[in-house]
Amino acid sequence: MPENNDLLLLFFQEVLPFASKLKKELAEYLKLKIRIKVMLKLPPAKRRGQQKLASDFLPILLTLSQSAGCQLGLGIIADDLNVPALNFVFGLASPRIKTAIVSYYRLLSTNEEVTFKRLLTECVHELGHLFNLPYCQNSHCVMFFLIH
Ligand SMILES: [Zn+2]
Repeated sequence: MPENNDLLLLFFQEVLPFASKLKKELAEYLKLKIRIKVMLKLPPAKRRGQQKLASDFLPILLTLSQSAGCQLGLGIIADDLNVPALNFVFGLASPRIKTAIVSYYRLLSTNEEVTFKRLLTECVHELGHLFNLPYCQNSHCVMFFLIH
């Protein structure tokens, strides 16, 4: 795992209550320096019903990461996401431009701790893609295929 990577953790529209806990866990687990930002206005994205096209958020994440001096960008969004070939995705990563997005639309639980654990797992999974980790067949592995 590269040691000198800085990550921009960008919250779209609202910062979740456990944002700083998420930052702390990701920083410790992945040995990253992390900066949190919020983008209050959602960038335009193609829609399919109420869903938005996940890949439309990656270019803005690249721009914002670069202007924040970060090599990696991870967006967190409330909206449900899709890609053309799948009904929905939990997230999407582009190892090429080192950006990823995670939706918590399908991760929400009435138990905030459960929501947090799901979100953390999904974030680690997408960041794993940025470090070019392959999928894993072990269902206990964070790189197990879970609709990205
Ligand atoms: Zn994946």
